[in-house]
Amino acid sequence: MTAPLRLRLSHDALISNWKLLTKLSGSAACGAAVKANGYGLGAREVVKRLAVAGCRDFFVANWAEARAIADLGLSVSVLHGVRKEDMAVERPPNVRPVLNSQAQIGLWRVGGEGRACDVMVDTGMNRLGIAPGEIGSLDGLEVDTVMSHLASADEDVALNRRQRDVFAALAGMRPGARMSLANSAGIALGADYAFDVTRPGIALYGGRPRAEHAEIRQVVTPEAQIIQRRTVPAGEIVGYNGTFTAPRDMEVAILNIGYADGYLRCFSGRGTARVDGVAMPVIGRVSMDMVAIDVDAMPGLGEGDWVSLDYALPETAALSGLSQYELITGLGSRFDRVWSS
Ligand SMILES: *Cc1c(COP(=O)(O)O)cnc(C)c1O
Repeated sequence: MTAPLRLRLSHDALISNWKLLTKLSGSAACGAAVKANGYGLGAREVVKRLAVAGCRDFFVANWAEARAIADLGLSVSVLHGVRKEDMAVERPPNVRPVLNSQAQIGLWRVGGEGRACDVMVDTGMNRLGIAPGEIGSLDGLEVDTVMSHLASADEDVALNRRQRDVFAALAGMRPGARMSLANSAGIALGADYAFDVTRPGIALYGGRPRAEHAEIRQVVTPEAQIIQRRTVPAGEIVGYNGTFTAPRDMEVAILNIGYADGYLRCFSGRGTARVDGVAMPVIGRVSMDMVAIDVDAMPGLGEGDWVSLDYALPETAALSGLSQYELITGLGSRFDRVWSS
């Protein structure tokens, strides 16, 4: 059965974005962050498509996310590391924990069966990772990649350079291990942020955290169907709490998408739907499963017809006040995810 909502996903845009980020990564290998189900696009499809293009390193948050893609046989790193619970069950051999603390290092020493791991070093974000001075505590572990993470790479602040320099000073301290620092925004900071492996997420999926990402293309477009079309007489209201009053007799269509799908209340009176390039403004309040649009400009549009919703991430973030990350990861489970070129 086909779902009444679709996420239209562009294969060409995804691959073109990965190639652009590969180019910006210089001599480093360009991986892909596919946590949170590939930022909501569907991790398996994203991984398969990027693997064909040549991507080899994938990053997820936890072991459940790793298991969902482990059978594809690629290198997968688990950013949250390991918990006792993860050590108690069988782990796919191609998945490595990113060890974040001495306790996690201890767990892996005891139960890791000598398999490879990655290590996160905290260079100033104070989120996850061991201190730079603790790198000596890794002796005897098979470390594939030493990582750190930038706190403010989407801004031009002195902390970026400080974090990079602290990280660069670790080079050679784990002979044979790869080094990885940059997310999407970090890749745009320059070649000296790329090291051996980069880890873009949001820019693969159409996010543009920095001006240098101008050529990044939109990947995701939500599409909804018209449930009912009606004429609203001048002076009558539309939707909860009557926040919209019809200024004239007008044509209105009710779409089957709402805040439960991630089309949040901030689009009330602000969002735009579109068919054949013609813009149709969202009017009144977004409901849980519905939203009203002004279809005066589209006399031929009727019940059952599909419309797309404007969802270019940078512009939609500016319009809504939400981050590009929240916009894309919030799109819910009622969509069919449909890939096209
Ligand atoms: C999410 C994440 C990334 C990807 O970040 P983007 O800003 O989406 O490019 C890279 N590294 C780590 C450690 C992350 O948690």
